[in-house]
Amino acid sequence: MAYELKACTWCGLADPEHKSDCPYDRSWEDLTFYKDFRVSDLRKLFEKLADPKDWKGPIAATMPGEAVLGACAAIEYFTATVPRVGLDTQTMTYLVTSEGYRMGPAGDH
Ligand SMILES: [Zn+2]
Repeated sequence: MAYELKACTWCGLADPEHKSDCPYDRSWEDLTFYKDFRVSDLRKLFEKLADPKDWKGPIAATMPGEAVLGACAAIEYFTATVPRVGLDTQTMTYLVTSEGYRMGPAGDH
C-alpha cells in the first residue's frame, strides 16, 4: 500500500519527519479548563481583548457586567497578570485593564 503524505491539520506541513505532537496542535484547549472556562473559549475572548498586532501589550476594555468574569479569566490565563476592574457608574459599564503579558510577572520586559 502506497504511503500517502498528508499535510498536518495544525500547521499545514506535509513532512514525513513531522512529529505527531505538533506544536500548533490546539485540540487540548477544548479539554482544558481554567476557572470553569474552556481554554479554547478563553482564547477567543482574549483575542477580542488584546491588541491583534501586539498581544503582549497593555489591555483596556469596556464591557457589560456579565462579560467581566470571562474577560478576567482570559487575561489571567494568557498574560499571567491580575486584571483590575473598574465600574463607570455613569454608563454602568466595566473597565477591565491589565499591564499585559510583557510587563507582567511572566513577561520578557
Ligand atoms: Zn503540524
